[in-house]
Amino acid sequence: MDIVTNIRNAGVVGAGGAGFPTHVKMSGKAEWVIANGAECEPLLRVDQQLMTVFADELIAGLIFAMEAVGASKGVIALKDHYKDAIDVLRRQIENVPGISLYIMLSYYPAGDEQQIVYEVTGSVVPTGGIPLDVGVVISNVNTLINIARAQHSVPVTEKYVTVGGAVKTPVTVNAPIGISLRELIEHAGGVTEECGYIIGGPCMGRVEWGLDHPVTKTTGGILAIPKDHPLFHLKSPEMNLQMVKAVCCQCTMCSQMCPRNSLGLNVQPHKAMRSLAQGTDLMGDFGGVFSCCDCGICTYYACNFGLKPSTVMSALKQQLSEGGSRPEKKPPLPVDSALDTKRLPTYRLIARLGLSDYDVPAPIDGHFLDTDQVTIPLKMHIGAPSVPIVRKGQRVKKEELIADIPEGSLGAKIHASISGVISDITDTGIHITKE
Ligand code: SF4
Ligand code: SF4
Repeated sequence: MDIVTNIRNAGVVGAGGAGFPTHVKMSGKAEWVIANGAECEPLLRVDQQLMTVFADELIAGLIFAMEAVGASKGVIALKDHYKDAIDVLRRQIENVPGISLYIMLSYYPAGDEQQIVYEVTGSVVPTGGIPLDVGVVISNVNTLINIARAQHSVPVTEKYVTVGGAVKTPVTVNAPIGISLRELIEHAGGVTEECGYIIGGPCMGRVEWGLDHPVTKTTGGILAIPKDHPLFHLKSPEMNLQMVKAVCCQCTMCSQMCPRNSLGLNVQPHKAMRSLAQGTDLMGDFGGVFSCCDCGICTYYACNFGLKPSTVMSALKQQLSEGGSRPEKKPPLPVDSALDTKRLPTYRLIARLGLSDYDVPAPIDGHFLDTDQVTIPLKMHIGAPSVPIVRKGQRVKKEELIADIPEGSLGAKIHASISGVISDITDTGIHITKE
């Protein structure tokens, strides 16, 4: 079977973000394939370790991806302080033609794909566009490892997750998809004080107050953060309109520090704030709103008054999408000549967020976290939810197909992550219990 069919059959989706089905991404034609190993979210420790431990599979996956899209250049982009990964990869690519490393500084958001595309190729993805518009396919390193495994008919059933924050032993653990977050926290020795949880990184992750949710194909981390930590206030979508009206002085600092604005993508959060305060439509060109990558710099770092422009940008994006607006592709404005000086060092962001105490190693413990039951969501990807092809009471083996892509839809196949019996099927997930 061909490379893309193997990827589709293995249910590979983007492991580092929203879960775009990889077989669709690998069906285009591109000059470059970039392996995104920047892992820019503070406190997450997955990709930087996978690049060391599974360097051979990463390189194999990159070669398969290059073959699939017809690319002549393969680049692994990673940060300069991932010394172990750099050493191992440098040795392993020595005699591999067409593949090189691109070493980035440790800034946030280095893992934003448009930043990486610009750094590596010098091209800027147009406003409202995607990397393919400039001949680039970019994939997270974990996804590329999954692409290599897919060629040996190994589907995606496991995920490495960093368990960090206020836990006894921060760790990065390999777990079956569908295991509860509670088991991950227990594996890390439990919390050291009363906590809420952030699924993903502190900036782009979502807040959960309970631990019943399962690990999915895109879960990169779970961070236990003390309940009264100010981060929860910043992550709350609520914002007092009176405060915006009274406090936002239109200093434009949020737009000046916006990394997408610096790339010439017309992202202007200060205008979104003005429009909110005045109740008028001052955004004009909506393309810029769609180019916001939700990095949160405007909220977590730029605004000195504790306002939350990123939540306004997200709400505007949602409003526009629901109203039927779509990003209009437009050539970018010139890149800000001060771009290099505007890059936000990750350690500064961590300090500003009040997370320095949790910026500690979370080593892979070489242990597969086994469990007696999993609840595997039917939607862990962009597109339509998968359709169960098993029935309640049926015995399944690990790696067996349990849900398929609906006919004619964008989606991803789903496989059993443990062997057992299908104990329940709901509208949202399939429950498997060990016998
Ligand atoms: S939201 Fe904050 S940073 Fe942005 S313009 Fe208003 S006061 Fe300035
Ligand atoms: S979240 Fe804020 S800083 Fe980040 S891209 Fe959007 S507007 Fe710019």
